[in-house]
Amino acid sequence: MTMQYGPSYVRQIAPYVAGKPISEVAREFGLDESRIVKLASNENPLGMPDSAKAAMARAAAELGRYPDANAFELKAALADRYGVPAEWITLGNGSNDILEIAAHAFVEKGQSVVYAQYSFAVYALATQGLGARAIVVPAVRHGHDLDAMLAAIEDDTRLVFIANPNNPTGTFIEGPALEAFLEKVPRRVVVVLDEAYTEYLPAELRYDSIAWARRYPNLVVSRTFSKAFGLAGLRVGFAIAQPDLTDLLNRLRQPFNVNTIAQAAAIAALGDTAFLEKTAALNAQGYRRLTQAFDKLGLEYVPSFGNFVLVRVGSDDGAGARVNLALLQQGVIVRPVGNYGLPQWLRVTIGLPDENEAFIAALEQALAPA
Ligand SMILES: *Cc1c(COP(=O)(O)O)cnc(C)c1O
Repeated sequence: MTMQYGPSYVRQIAPYVAGKPISEVAREFGLDESRIVKLASNENPLGMPDSAKAAMARAAAELGRYPDANAFELKAALADRYGVPAEWITLGNGSNDILEIAAHAFVEKGQSVVYAQYSFAVYALATQGLGARAIVVPAVRHGHDLDAMLAAIEDDTRLVFIANPNNPTGTFIEGPALEAFLEKVPRRVVVVLDEAYTEYLPAELRYDSIAWARRYPNLVVSRTFSKAFGLAGLRVGFAIAQPDLTDLLNRLRQPFNVNTIAQAAAIAALGDTAFLEKTAALNAQGYRRLTQAFDKLGLEYVPSFGNFVLVRVGSDDGAGARVNLALLQQGVIVRPVGNYGLPQWLRVTIGLPDENEAFIAALEQALAPA
């Protein structure tokens, strides 16, 4: 008899499917790395801001020592930027770390966690990793159904995850609807509002979730440096919440979860408003181009408020995998989303103008009748 290690709820976890690295696709398909276009992981196509690169080079001289476990300077910069005391901030090794820590801080094995169908894969991971019970609420038009999510909360529910804008669908809940939801959620239930893409929102759609964190003692606002700030490889995320919640999160956090170089780079990126503006403008332009191409090809897509678009590339359940393979053969990496229950769709990250054109040309080729 073969030995089975670990609890059954851990063995049942489906492995996380990450975007394929450029080097791997080059090897697999015999392509030149320099000609591969990666639009698979919602990274900033501009790369790291120069301000962050300079800060990283300076911080490199200090790597013989441990990082500042309390990240005094980064927290001070965040506190200043978002108008909260440093005691309201938790840092994460990416915001994935925050999501995982939150699950451990607020939920016991056997209790339930509510999140939406087609929401970020890490919510399922964090829930299952605890042996907690997932209550997955069916999506409406690929987005969150807040009334249904409220109704789905049970006596043993301790946590609700909401991504706004949502990944992988790009849908967005407007501020007033979200606020009405927060008002109605029982205070014993913690809401993690995952705002990984908030910097891409146009001014007229912005809402003040930090003000909500002041008003609602059960709200954790989660943000990341991985997307608009351009630091995905460094792994920095943070949460803003009242001190009672923040204190619990910080007790569970690994003391050195954000390294010295990452702390320095994040401070620089946070202050680089020119880079953020350039990022948002480039994204808006790329979104128009991609959706115009989808319209021309007659492809359905979900209107997106992030830096990516979910597009339906066929009407059979083999379509996503088939078109994905045809794109890979042409050196274009996007994200199949069959693991999210969307086998007819692909998620494509908005790239630089040249990258978007390369993707569109490859997509046209992939969809052309044989
Ligand atoms: C990309 C993303 C994150 C950020 O992950 P990091 O760990 O900060 O890189 C968090 N939530 C959602 C919904 C995302 O799409």
